Amino acid sequence: MISLSNIYAQDLGKTLHDSHDYFKEKTITKRRFGYQVLKNRIEELKKNSMFEVSLATKSTEGRDIYLIKCGTGKTKVLLWSQMHGDEPTATMALADIFNFLENKKDSSKREISPVLDNLREELLKKCTFYFVPMLNPDGAEVWTRYTSLGIDMNRDAVALQTPEGRLLKQLVFDLKPDFAFNLHDKNRRYSAGQSGNLATMSFLATAFNEAQDINPTRKRAMQVIVGMNQAVQTYIPNAVGRWFSDYEPRAFGDNIQKWGSTLILVESGGYKNDPEKQYIRKLNFVALLTGLQMVASKSYKKQSIKEYEQLPVNSKAIYDLIIRNVNIKKGETTFKADIAINRNERPVTGKDYFTTSSVIEEIGDMSVFFGTDEIDGTDMEIVAEKEIGLGSKADFQIVKDGKVVYTIKNGSVE
Ligand SMILES: [Zn+2]
Repeated sequence: MISLSNIYAQDLGKTLHDSHDYFKEKTITKRRFGYQVLKNRIEELKKNSMFEVSLATKSTEGRDIYLIKCGTGKTKVLLWSQMHGDEPTATMALADIFNFLENKKDSSKREISPVLDNLREELLKKCTFYFVPMLNPDGAEVWTRYTSLGIDMNRDAVALQTPEGRLLKQLVFDLKPDFAFNLHDKNRRYSAGQSGNLATMSFLATAFNEAQDINPTRKRAMQVIVGMNQAVQTYIPNAVGRWFSDYEPRAFGDNIQKWGSTLILVESGGYKNDPEKQYIRKLNFVALLTGLQMVASKSYKKQSIKEYEQLPVNSKAIYDLIIRNVNIKKGETTFKADIAINRNERPVTGKDYFTTSSVIEEIGDMSVFFGTDEIDGTDMEIVAEKEIGLGSKADFQIVKDGKVVYTIKNGSVE
């Protein structure tokens, strides 16, 4: 076996990126794939002796939460996703990673690089993995952040009132993982720094105390993040962010770092024209497997935490649509302004899709903000059936010299 410890994260990232379609779990095609689809896939894994699948606990509403163990190595790695029910991107990627781990000798199929066979072998030999995909199935079913008790599990690390939160603490205490990956989504409008780049992926080496000190446990998280960032930068240049590391005494990430496991927080944000987050799912696959490779080979030790500190801090600088410098009429007054519009999604009960409802969030000088879509409305005017204003739906036309240039319907350019 060729050791992968000297492979560059960028190169491994590219190999993973180019092979993802091959490993993609085909039963999952949308964000709201639902609990049952995942459960079916996990039941399938039981047939493969390389996975040890056990019932970890039941959710408040009685859904099974599984623990999936594989690998025989010394380094223990715990990964969980979707503690917030409406944050499923990493769960999709974990399903893809199960497919990757399960495959044997893909390189006999010409399109798959032999590097990936080496990767699989190295991961399973050096590490023992414990996966808990969809830690909050009750929340996932109704598409909410909270557990069915109405509690945010990520503020329950000390109070421990949710069975799901108790499970997570118990796993950390029983298994004493060397590394822990805490996988989330976040509002898709966060930017990487004060820029127009959506923070498609964000990372955090959570703080373990108020002073945000860096001890060896936390330093390792920063070093692994550096490699994960290198793996995805090629595809999302300047669109990787990090969070402020303010200590949150009630959160799992902060406490687990304090309890002595190196904790890496990964968050999936937004990517233009990817409403179902299928491209971000691919990037999760790339980043997570690169991170795991660094953990397995200990190659993270070569990374400088300076690169972590240089990642731009997430900021809220982006709206879905900004119309610049357009003439607006209010009664007898005409004025020039920018208009910032968001399209908010609402889950349709019992379905796997969403409805969208637009809202005018701001009117005025939006020069410090960015739009995922932007229209230059110079020398144009807003014409609407009903006068537009703050909080109103974005249905209007943008007209120049009496001719319609753009039609905006429910916040989208038609
Ligand atoms: Zn979350």
